[in-house]
Amino acid sequence: MDRRIYGIETEYGLTCTVEGRRRLSPDEVARYMFRGIVARGRSSNVFLTNGARLYLDVGNHPEYATAECDTLVDLLAQDRAGERIVQGLADEAHARMAEDGIDASVYVFKNNLDSAGTSYGCHENYLVARSTDLDALSGTLLPFLVTRQLLCGAGHVLVDAGGVGHYVLSQRADVMWEGASSATTRSRPMINTRDEPHADADRFRRLHVIVGDSNLLETTTMLKVGSTDLVLRALEAGRRTSDLALANPMTAIRAASRDLTGVGEVVLDRGGRVTAREIQWAYHDMVAAHLEAEGPARPLDLEVLDLWGRTLDGLERGDMSGVASEIDWVVKHRLLTRFAERHGLELTDSRVGQLELNVHDIDPRRGAVARMRERGLVASVVTDEQIERARTTAPATTRAHLRGTFVEAARRHGRDHTVDWSHLRLDDAVGRTVLCKDPFASTDPRVDALLAAIEDPAGSGDGTGAPMTPPV
Ligand code: ATP
Ligand code: MG
Ligand code: MG
Repeated sequence: MDRRIYGIETEYGLTCTVEGRRRLSPDEVARYMFRGIVARGRSSNVFLTNGARLYLDVGNHPEYATAECDTLVDLLAQDRAGERIVQGLADEAHARMAEDGIDASVYVFKNNLDSAGTSYGCHENYLVARSTDLDALSGTLLPFLVTRQLLCGAGHVLVDAGGVGHYVLSQRADVMWEGASSATTRSRPMINTRDEPHADADRFRRLHVIVGDSNLLETTTMLKVGSTDLVLRALEAGRRTSDLALANPMTAIRAASRDLTGVGEVVLDRGGRVTAREIQWAYHDMVAAHLEAEGPARPLDLEVLDLWGRTLDGLERGDMSGVASEIDWVVKHRLLTRFAERHGLELTDSRVGQLELNVHDIDPRRGAVARMRERGLVASVVTDEQIERARTTAPATTRAHLRGTFVEAARRHGRDHTVDWSHLRLDDAVGRTVLCKDPFASTDPRVDALLAAIEDPAGSGDGTGAPMTPPV
C-alpha cells in the first residue's frame, strides 16, 4: 500500500490506595475517572476532538484507541497524547474523591497484567487491501510476530512453578493461545481475523494484531509498528523469506519470551530448527532488500530499519548497551536488576514487584520511565508540542480530521451528536448522518454541509447527508 492507516488501542491498568476509611475497588476508581465524561456525553464511550475513542468497557480497564493515522509521527503523538488524557482522568478522579472525603492515590499503568494475573491488551490496527489474502498474509506474518518481542517486548518478571523469578521479554507471550482466529475472548489469538474493517468493506480490511505488549518508549512503539508495516509492505510487494512457518506458534512464543539472547531454537513446521534471532534477521533482511530496491517510502523507514538492526546486533554480541535508551525491555531489565542487586533482593521480592509496576506508571511525577523521559534519559521521537497538539487535534491527513472537526464543532455549539469510526450523525430533527467509508479521505463536502448545519442550525442545509444509518 502506498499509504497505510494505523491505529493503536491501549487498555490501562488501575489501582488505588486509600488512606481514609473506605477501600475503593478498581471499578469504583474507573467510575470516578469517567464521571466527567459521562456527565458531558451521557456515555462512557466517547470520541474526542482529536479523533480518538476513549471508553470504559465492562471491567475496569479504560481504553484509548488512537485516531486513524497515516504516519508514524502522528501515531506516536496520538499514543502519547492518550497517556496524558488518561492521566488527566486519574487526576480528576483524585480531585473528586477528595471532595467526597476520600484521601486516595490513583495509579494508571500502561502494562498488560494486573496483580491478579489478568491480562489486558494493546491492539495494533493496519489497513490492508481487500484483495489481500488475509489468511495467507497472517501465516507469513506469524513467525515475525512470535519473535518481534526481541525488539519490542515490555519485559516482565515471570515466577516459575518453583517460585523462582525470571526476567522475560513479554507480558503477553504467556496469555496467547492461538495463531490467527476470529475469536478474542477465550482463545486469544495473536491476529484477530474478525472482519470488521470500520471502512468500505469492498476495498479495505483491517489487520488486527493483538499479540503485542503495551510500550512505554516512543522508539519501541516506532519499531513495533514501523517494522510490522515494513514487513507488510515487502510481503504485499511479493517478497518472501524462506519458509519459516512454525510447528507450534504457542510453544515458540513462550520459549522466545524466556530467551533474552534470542538464541533459543524453535521448531519449524517443515522440520528443522532456527533461532528467534535468525527469524528476525530473515524478516529484517527481506525488508532491507525491499527498501534498497524501492527506496524508503515513508518518513522514519530508515530509522526503523536502523534500530531493528542495532537491536539484533546487540543480541548477537550479548551487549544491549547500544539500545539501552530505546528499547522497553532493555531499559526495564536494567532498572530491575540493578535495584535487586543493590539491595540484595530476589526478583520475586515484593519491592522489585513494586518497581516493576512503577516502571509502567504513566504519571510523569512518579513513573520510573516517565521520569527518565522528563530528564532526557530515554530517547524520544515526537516533541512535547506535537503531543500536546495531538491531545485536542486529529491527524490532518486521514478521516480522523473530519471526525475531529465535527466533534469539536458539535461540542462548541452544544449539539447532540453520535459518532463511530465511520459515521458522523447530528442528533437533531433531521438526524443527518454522513458515512465516511474511506479512512484516507480528510476532506468531504458532505461533512462541510454538516458543519454548516451546526454553525447555522436555522439554515436548511442542502440535504446532502446520507440517509440515516444507525451507527454500529
Ligand atoms: P475491540 O476493542 O474489541 O478490539 P475494535 O478493534 O473495533 O474493538 P476500537 O477500540 O474501536 O477497536 O479501535 C479501532 C482502532 O482501529 C482505532 O485505533 C482506529 O484508529 C483503527 N482503525 C479504524 N479504522 C481502521 C481501518 N480501516 N484500518 C486500520 N485501522 C483502523
Ligand atoms: Mg478496542
Ligand atoms: Mg481492537
